[in-house]
Amino acid sequence: MEHVDPRAFVALAFVIGSLVGSFLNVVIHRLPRGESIVHPGSRCPACGHAIRPWHNVPVIGWLLLRGRCRDCGVRISARYPLVELATALLFAAVADRFGASPLGWMWMAFVAALFAAAAIDFDHRIIPDEISVGGLVAGLTVAPALQAWEGAPAGAAWLHAVLGAALGGGLLWIVGFAHARLCAVGGRRFEHWPGDGEDFPAPRSLDYWTWFPGMGFGDVKLLAMIGAFLGPVGVVETLVAASAVGLLFGIGWAIARRSFASPFGFGPMLAAGALVALLVPFGPLAP
Ligand SMILES: [Zn+2]
Repeated sequence: MEHVDPRAFVALAFVIGSLVGSFLNVVIHRLPRGESIVHPGSRCPACGHAIRPWHNVPVIGWLLLRGRCRDCGVRISARYPLVELATALLFAAVADRFGASPLGWMWMAFVAALFAAAAIDFDHRIIPDEISVGGLVAGLTVAPALQAWEGAPAGAAWLHAVLGAALGGGLLWIVGFAHARLCAVGGRRFEHWPGDGEDFPAPRSLDYWTWFPGMGFGDVKLLAMIGAFLGPVGVVETLVAASAVGLLFGIGWAIARRSFASPFGFGPMLAAGALVALLVPFGPLAP
């Protein structure tokens, strides 16, 4: 792949990204519902008719249909083509930054996983283990192996991943755990933590260690995964960028809706922060 014209590779990544975005639409919809992500093929959520192959072409299919189901006329959300377009642009940005290499393909998969985690967290306030824990395992094994393949010392690459995962997961776990204990001591109640008449979890129960109000354990696992890929410096960059993105969104939301009750969890901010850490030119991953 070394002799690929860089501009042609960016264009190829854009096309592949749009196709992956189309797949991510399926993942985002079905994974949190426990449905298969391969069967059946795309269907109209209203009438159940299979979507014709030429209407399944990313972005263009939606435009051809003018945003309506061909069979029942129900509106198809503009979110579907927007997810496809956003994934295409992210893949093109990764291709531009990392080039046609095994690591370039790995970062595209990483970006796709982050995007799916953010969208599912936005919809359901959960981050599926298939993405966070699966990504953590990949970040501790595949990522250092590919870095070693490209000439990095294998031991250093692996240590980088382990330290990043430990720092990412550890930092958020400490914040969540300390916050949970403070809330318990202060008698503060949250909608789901614990519910009316429920006892606070005791130290011998797993919930005591992993069940936090406000910030879910899913965020801990997500930042551990991000840390495995980006390393310890990347974790710090991700947290700084996530806080900045969260602050901007929070201010924008407060102005637009005159409410300080944010509709977001922390997951989408962490994913956005990791994208900034990966793609901004002053990051620690500059090739
Ligand atoms: Zn329909």
